[in-house]
Amino acid sequence: MARDLLGSKCKRCRRSGEKLFLKGDRCNTAKCAMVKRPYAPGVHGKRMSRGLSEFGKQLAMKQRIKRMYGILERQFRKHYEEIENKQGVTGDLLMARLELRLDNVVRKMGFALSPIQARQLVNHGAFLLNGKSVTIPSYEVKIGDVISIKESKKVNPYFVNQIQALKNKKDFPRWIAFDQNAIVGTVIALPAREDVGIQVDPQMVVESYSR
Ligand code: SF4
Repeated sequence: MARDLLGSKCKRCRRSGEKLFLKGDRCNTAKCAMVKRPYAPGVHGKRMSRGLSEFGKQLAMKQRIKRMYGILERQFRKHYEEIENKQGVTGDLLMARLELRLDNVVRKMGFALSPIQARQLVNHGAFLLNGKSVTIPSYEVKIGDVISIKESKKVNPYFVNQIQALKNKKDFPRWIAFDQNAIVGTVIALPAREDVGIQVDPQMVVESYSR
């Protein structure tokens, strides 16, 4: 998987058989590799059989979700352990935990265009969470938490453009309230599985860990 994360983002989508939206704006254009070559990479990609065993399907789903968030097995397992004893449907709790990673939340708010950029911006201390700098991409954002761009970063040409784009943005997820004047986002609900925007079945992951 580590090698998988270092390689081409489009190959990750093609390997998963699903658009994972890892390249920002390009993902919504005809240049998307899943539009041009919607089959697995490699010389045998076109002929690759999808007739996997139940265990194979569970592993493939786990890979797809890890690729979506750009995380490795150890981190993924850690998120699973954080939620496995909580009350509720484990698969839904797992997706909510992943969606509430700080790097994912800043991307869903529109502060970043792709998962990798979101992680870099968080690592570089670009954001304030409830007024305090947080630089941990896996940090769990809670309902009521408020995220803003650090004042000193607002003069950065990337953020100058992005702030302008955010003033006109229309499609925020239903679990986020975004103040387009102040350019501040607040998490107002738990993200549900259907909010992920990509076809996933986290219960398959739960089953693979329960073996
Ligand atoms: Fe590449 Fe984005 Fe298309 Fe995935 S969705 S294949 S990352 S352009």
